[in-house]
Amino acid sequence: MTCDFYQLATPGVQGLHPYQPGKPVEELERELGISNSIKLASNENPHGPSEMAIAAVQASLLESCRYPDASGFKLKQELSTRYGFHPDTITLGNGSNDVLDIIGHAFLLPGDEVIYSQHAFIVYQLVAQSTSATAVVTPAKTWGHDLDAMAAAVTDKTRIIFLANPNNPTGTWFAGDALRAFMAKIPEHVIVVLDEAYAEYVAEPDYLSGLELQSEYANLIITRTFSKAYGLAGLRIGYGVADAAITDLLNRVRQPFNVNIPALEAAVAVLSDTEYLQHCVELNHAGMAQLEKGCEQLGVSWIPSVGNFITVDCGRDAGPVYAALLKEGVIVRPVANYGMPNHLRVTVGLPEENHRFLAAFKQVLQNSEKDE
Ligand SMILES: *Cc1c(COP(=O)(O)O)cnc(C)c1O
Repeated sequence: MTCDFYQLATPGVQGLHPYQPGKPVEELERELGISNSIKLASNENPHGPSEMAIAAVQASLLESCRYPDASGFKLKQELSTRYGFHPDTITLGNGSNDVLDIIGHAFLLPGDEVIYSQHAFIVYQLVAQSTSATAVVTPAKTWGHDLDAMAAAVTDKTRIIFLANPNNPTGTWFAGDALRAFMAKIPEHVIVVLDEAYAEYVAEPDYLSGLELQSEYANLIITRTFSKAYGLAGLRIGYGVADAAITDLLNRVRQPFNVNIPALEAAVAVLSDTEYLQHCVELNHAGMAQLEKGCEQLGVSWIPSVGNFITVDCGRDAGPVYAALLKEGVIVRPVANYGMPNHLRVTVGLPEENHRFLAAFKQVLQNSEKDE
């Protein structure tokens, strides 16, 4: 008889479901035998990478026989001069997802409580589950975080609170006043992880980055990524900013060479390509307006979003709508696993991609009405 390896896994891992990524274009085209599909499913930057980043990656390949600089000295210096935080407060990760994972492994034991919101980014659930910690999920408030409810959920066992500002997949956000009031209520032994993967896109005047508050709150960790507005999702690089003592702990858990040479070099290069960032943010705002207008014309409602995606309400089970869009060569993201079975999340694409989605969406909605 073969061994039941499932019984050997930790209780957390036994209950774990793998992360469901957006469907790759190649996979769809292989399955349906079609071409020219578009992917608006993973909140990637539709513009393509920065020319400066590409040049840096190409040059860096000559060093591929070497291990990367495990301390990430150059990138930490660059971040430090740009934003003013000390290099000793920076943890580099293989994407910010890596940083979220490292935080979980540094601080969570089975039975510890982790608080996050309903409809929040699913990686928080994965981090809690993989460490066999106990997830405490607070109800959402108009799709966003109910910070009061989250603060009220703190107990002696709470170790980590995950906040996403803006949140994915809802695109919701909270203001600086709310963040300050929240932090003032949280005891210092509870670590607040503020995930700001989409911060570069936010133009609301009362938005406040946690980076402004980090020096006031030693228990606050901010995570940022190069995957979204900086257009480097495929290279996998992000970072956390935290108190030096916390950073020291994270550095003990981190794999020594968790960030590769091309990623480090590309990140340094794109930080100085301010034109690129500005252009991508403008492209996103125009694309968001285009999608909102198109949805309005279709009579489809959406959750107001400050990210690079919009989550639309199909008014029915979104599964068949998703499947029908795939047949039109348009890949979006179902969010039933976020407790949102009627919604689809659509990444803001290039103008022609947004147009193509809206045309396909119109077609699919009309066809499904005929079927009813
Ligand atoms: C995309 C995303 C991330 C980051 O992903 P990485 O590519 O691992 O940096 C983190 N948090 C949220 C909310 C996201 O949507």
